[in-house]
Amino acid sequence: MKSELDGLVVLVTGGASGIGAATANRMAAMGAQVVVLDLMPVTADVPHVVVEADVSDDESVRRAVAAVITRFGRLDIVVNNAGIGAQGTIADNSEEEWHRVLDINVLGIVRVTRAALPYLRKSPSAAIVNTASVAATAGLQNRALYSASKGAVVALTLSMAADHLHEGIRVNCVNPGTADTPWVERLLQTATDPAAERAALEARQPHGRLVKPEEVAAAIAFLASPSAGSTTGTALAVDGGMQGLRLRPVV
Ligand code: NAD
Repeated sequence: MKSELDGLVVLVTGGASGIGAATANRMAAMGAQVVVLDLMPVTADVPHVVVEADVSDDESVRRAVAAVITRFGRLDIVVNNAGIGAQGTIADNSEEEWHRVLDINVLGIVRVTRAALPYLRKSPSAAIVNTASVAATAGLQNRALYSASKGAVVALTLSMAADHLHEGIRVNCVNPGTADTPWVERLLQTATDPAAERAALEARQPHGRLVKPEEVAAAIAFLASPSAGSTTGTALAVDGGMQGLRLRPVV
């Protein structure tokens, strides 16, 4: 497994933090050359190439993909992971916020994939992995806009998988449960009682804890790797059983 991605070039969006950073590290450890595309600089000491770009800006995305090709001459795997959250019912978010979240979470994938496609078509091991969410498949309170965006990511994943199968490009997504990342830490800090809020989020996961970003990274790396060569058009839950299980309360 250590060298399974040897010789392959991977682009990870949102790779400066949380799930994306864990994915970049894991895929580098598996032998890939990793390029991180993010709004933020990478602060950790990592071997990745970092391109500062914004997935909501087509020009900046095209420049970032061009930089990958200039540096490595190829692009084999795209991890569309950059995303932002939104809280509220359907009555709560402004039109502007709806457009902003969909622009990043859904159209971000469109822009990055569109720019990468000509190079993926030339790869012998082309794969795309999108980061969706359990919010796409379970009804969560106060997440109307975010859930709509992630539902679109799951549907887009299936459609892309169908469209590009004949070109040798596999497309899958992961559906994480609540993961212990800087994003969730930021959310907790806005709660009146962050410890109680964390305990409530942990209790919502059937396995009783938050998902580790490294666990999501492992699923992404598997779906992206050549050993998953017969896996396309799937949504892999990494949610401690949140979507699929109906446990009886302990009595
Ligand atoms: P995070 O905030 O720790 O990391 C997200 C990264 O994306 C950041 O580095 C940020 O700078 C980058 N980013 C945001 N907007 C961008 C843009 N316009 N262009 C380029 N980069 C941008 O978040 P995370 O928890 O690691 O989340 C990563 C992905 O996982 C997101 O798509 C999120 O929806 C999804 N997800 C997270 C959870 C969770 O509980 N943390 C659960 C399910 C799904």
